[in-house]
Amino acid sequence: MVRRLAAGTRLVIATHNRGKLREIADLLAPHGVGAVSAGELGLPEPEETAADFVGNARLKAHAAASAAGLPALADDSGLCVAGLGGAPGVVSARWAGPEKDFSAAMARVQRELGAHPDRRAAFVCALALACPDGDCATFYGRVEGMLTWPPRGAGGFGYDPMFVPLGRAETFGEMAPDAKHAISHRARAFAQFVAACLP
Ligand code: IMP
Repeated sequence: MVRRLAAGTRLVIATHNRGKLREIADLLAPHGVGAVSAGELGLPEPEETAADFVGNARLKAHAAASAAGLPALADDSGLCVAGLGGAPGVVSARWAGPEKDFSAAMARVQRELGAHPDRRAAFVCALALACPDGDCATFYGRVEGMLTWPPRGAGGFGYDPMFVPLGRAETFGEMAPDAKHAISHRARAFAQFVAACLP
């Protein structure tokens, strides 16, 4: 169990992914919590060796909290494609290769799915808040949608241009940040984190 963070606490955002960092900073902004990124602190990126999103989020949050001596919030997330048995899932980042080429990663999803009639997909996000003393709490969010091809929109990051959330016509890549935050997997997990942990 993680205690509620005291007002004025500095929080480490335990990610080196610029897209996630931008979204987490947006989501934190209304709450008046001071945040510093793992990159700014020069923290190393731990290897993501867990088998699921929650395990990887915990691993990243613990590594950052103990290295920085501050509470740390980590995000592990990914795209789960029904017709691919849930792939790429926890290895969503790895499908983009060392060059982090998400045009290639989206093309791989499209290629592997081929003519599969089931184009359902979901974005999943696990957030973990770890304290330097080892306390940790996790939160989970998910948004369902359909994959479209070719990709559309230059907003967001990662697989956003090929994901159309249920009930919408635009891809996440075509949405303004606030519209994505109203329904995203990350925002859903974040709302629980805010309710449980922020002052
Ligand atoms: P990891 O959590 O560092 O393993 O990386 C998760 C990967 O999933 C990211 O690099 C993105 O490719 C993808 N991903 C997670 N959240 C989103 C999102 O909101 N939009 C698009 N892609 C995402």
